[in-house]
Amino acid sequence: MSSHTLAGDLLETPEQRDLRAAVAQLGSRYGRSYFTETVDAGNHPEALWADAAKAGYLGVNLPEEHGGGGAGITELSIVLEELGGAGCPLLMLIVSPAICGTVIARFGTDAQRRRWLPPLADGSRTMAFGITEPDAGSNSHRITTTARRAGGDWLLTGRKVFVSGVDRAEETLIVGRTEDERTGQLKPCLFVVPRDAAGFAHHRIDMELHAPEKQFELVLDEVRLPAEALVGDEDAGLSQLFAGLNPERIMTAAFALGMARYAVSRAVDYACERQVWKAPIGAHQAIAHPLARSHVEIELARLMTQKAARLYDARDDVGAGEAANMAKYAAGEAAARAVDQAVHTLGGNGLTREYGLASLVTAARVARIAPVSREMILNYISHQSLGLPKSY
Ligand SMILES: Cc1cc2nc3c(=O)[nH]c(=O)nc-3n(C[C@H](O)[C@H](O)[C@H](O)COP(=O)(O)OP(=O)(O)OC[C@H]3O[C@@H](n4cnc5c(N)ncnc54)[C@H](O)[C@@H]3O)c2cc1C
Repeated sequence: MSSHTLAGDLLETPEQRDLRAAVAQLGSRYGRSYFTETVDAGNHPEALWADAAKAGYLGVNLPEEHGGGGAGITELSIVLEELGGAGCPLLMLIVSPAICGTVIARFGTDAQRRRWLPPLADGSRTMAFGITEPDAGSNSHRITTTARRAGGDWLLTGRKVFVSGVDRAEETLIVGRTEDERTGQLKPCLFVVPRDAAGFAHHRIDMELHAPEKQFELVLDEVRLPAEALVGDEDAGLSQLFAGLNPERIMTAAFALGMARYAVSRAVDYACERQVWKAPIGAHQAIAHPLARSHVEIELARLMTQKAARLYDARDDVGAGEAANMAKYAAGEAAARAVDQAVHTLGGNGLTREYGLASLVTAARVARIAPVSREMILNYISHQSLGLPKSY
């Protein structure tokens, strides 16, 4: 299945197409079996990460003056989609360079940019991102992780759940809130929290996922942080946070698209070869049409992902907000259906470990749930795009 359709050629610059081809080639040098064997052995895809880092892919979106590629989320999403298309999605690209890197590049002080961006750009460090809380879930306005001033320092207390990659990331960018002394209202703000800080504990959550990135519960008990741990302006609140959440959605769409493409291409290969009647099973329309529909859905979702990435890179945060939500929704749905159909196409083999598709069933569901669920996107579109009233 070609990833270089005519539409792709019209919509991407020659540099972006070259990037797509080069990343696809790197991904194919590793492939799905490298990825699954690495996970089975309890390891991380270090070699792939190192090669991607050496080629400058991991920080392609970060500013050149801080060691990045000086490009945008458009390019970083190409990297993630193509690695996923080869069966090797690197989830931490969503978190480390896309969310944390973007927030620090846009809102950090000079000192924070100089300190954090070069190691994020060359992949020598990763930063996790923690917003989800057990009692807030989809309602992030309800988070209670609170920062109190203590002289020149901050004391951060709260709990987070499902935070990815804390075992690998030396720091986590934590979304907390400060109390406005005048109004008593809580305002969102972001802190870089070292994993070895006193009072910071992380416990692995046992997930039914076959991926190198693990999820963690975090407990922050009066974690003392210096003033410079606060990223951005204490008063800018939500707008800073949203600057990081749009890239998160665009990148999750790319993650889902890569997975979906991988699943469909495996199913197509199989359907062309497997023969139990007169013709290969791919000749039966009951097998062919759902795969064709998935191909259409993937292309449509990619188109919206490209739109969202372009708007974001052009600094249209509001326009990007709607498109990023739509892209994440469309790609999540496309991935869930593509993986389901791919597994089905392989019959019993779809559920064997050997063919490497069954593990994508739960992985594809992640793109429906995180970082924002399908229903919360539909709520956003209902209220923001259509002006419908709210039920909550
Ligand atoms: C693999 C994985 C990795 C993750 N990584 C991270 C990470 O790195 N950092 C991080 O902070 N978080 C992370 N998350 C958390 C993720 O963002 C949350 O799971 C997600 O936001 C949903 O929150 P919840 O699980 O609390 O579900 P809930 O908010 O409890 O929602 C449960 C269900 O109710 C529905 N629902 C809730 N409210 C409404 C409503 N108003 N209308 C209609 N339906 C509604 C939801 O759509 C969902 O189907 C990760 C999750 C997973 C699964």
